[in-house]
Amino acid sequence: MLSIFIDSFYNLNVNIVMFIKEFKKQTRHVRKSKTGKEHTYKREVTHCVFRCDNCDVEFDRTRGSMDPKRLSNNYFHVCKNCDSKVFAQKKGVEKKQVWNMSASSTTPINKL
Ligand SMILES: [Zn+2]
Repeated sequence: MLSIFIDSFYNLNVNIVMFIKEFKKQTRHVRKSKTGKEHTYKREVTHCVFRCDNCDVEFDRTRGSMDPKRLSNNYFHVCKNCDSKVFAQKKGVEKKQVWNMSASSTTPINKL
């Protein structure tokens, strides 16, 4: 019941960039009981899809492996092919460039 509530809550954010969506993946497992009888059971794992803020590639992670606080677009998400530390440094440089821009700049404010 609790997880259903969280799902619908996060689905409100589906149209916002970077944190794109989440989906459920079912995996089948076979377990042998003591009597030798095979027993199949399903497990449902929730995956979250993100777009890498560095290379724009879409990637997914199991939600269990994520810090719930990071499931928002207040955070940058960097895929496993990109180095998040390098990305953070680059972001720092971009910010500095914005700050150093002169007041006479013709760049519209919404392009910042
Ligand atoms: Zn990437």
